[in-house]
Amino acid sequence: MKEPLILSGKDVSAHVYDSLLERIKKLSKKKCTPGLAVVLVGENPASQVYVRSKTRIFKKFNLFTKTYQLESSIKSEELLLLIEKLNNNPLYHGILVQLPLPKHINSSDVINTISPKKDVDGFHPENAGLLSIGKPRFIPCTPKGIMKILEFYRINLDGKHVVVVGRSNIVGRPISILTSLKTKGANATVTTCHSGTPNIKGFTLIADVIVVALGVPNFLDSSMIKKGCTIIDVGINRVNSNNEKGYKLIGDANFEDLKNEVSSITPVPGGVGPMTIAMLVENTIEAAENNLFI
Ligand code: NDP
Repeated sequence: MKEPLILSGKDVSAHVYDSLLERIKKLSKKKCTPGLAVVLVGENPASQVYVRSKTRIFKKFNLFTKTYQLESSIKSEELLLLIEKLNNNPLYHGILVQLPLPKHINSSDVINTISPKKDVDGFHPENAGLLSIGKPRFIPCTPKGIMKILEFYRINLDGKHVVVVGRSNIVGRPISILTSLKTKGANATVTTCHSGTPNIKGFTLIADVIVVALGVPNFLDSSMIKKGCTIIDVGINRVNSNNEKGYKLIGDANFEDLKNEVSSITPVPGGVGPMTIAMLVENTIEAAENNLFI
């Protein structure tokens, strides 16, 4: 089998940022700086890392961002009040509440309080509904990033069988919807697998494209796939390592085992991850444009 094509989210995101510069300039001529409010509750180390990487990129492009770091003991009502204030603050075109939230806070209540017009994560039921009827406003960042990777590398899904493992509202379900929409580059036949699916291998073995988004390190291996398929690995799993950090990040697909059996595959890190952040920037710019030009 010939060398697999490594689908580099790093390269695709660099291309996306280039294309956003023009839009940022156009907004700046109208005296508008796209702004993102980030709400971080508690001290979850992984969430802190994600928030830092997101805000670093916003600053790099001279966009406005502020992180509201809140105690994990904050009362639900106080958090909802803050979100309402952010909804009404014209400096912010987008609002992101970093998940997961502490157990005493109902995540749905929080997501439902974010104005759908500032919901750059695309998790509000109104935006989820619009996506499911094929008229998306904000598409959740990770699935949107996956579609950009496929588009960039000209992997057309039309007529293909896509198998998605995972059905979360953040990744699995929206990517299942996006890939099945009757749109350019999509139009796939899609199977969604989850923890209630008996014999997932029976599905992955007949897939042209597999999206693994379950959070189980090295779940997918070469015994579970058809030779020459494409693999999109969304998983980010911390596992112990002898390196100086004491851990490394690996995906839901066993890259080393799979790389000589597939036609293309996303690495972890450097695959889907960088696209998630690029799409957050794009959605925030889109929110600012919608605010100005519509
Ligand atoms: P969730 O835990 O919300 O959802 C996991 C999904 O996988 C659920 O639908 C669950 O099924 C299913 N699942 C779990 N274990 C199994 C199993 N053994 N067999 C079959 N299905 C299983 O996770 P997320 O969707 O939020 O994230 C998934 C992974 O992607 C994580 O590693 C996360 O860190 C990563 N991630 C990466 C991002 C990126 O930018 N690259 C962004 C977001 C997430 P059920 O519904 O039945 O419980």
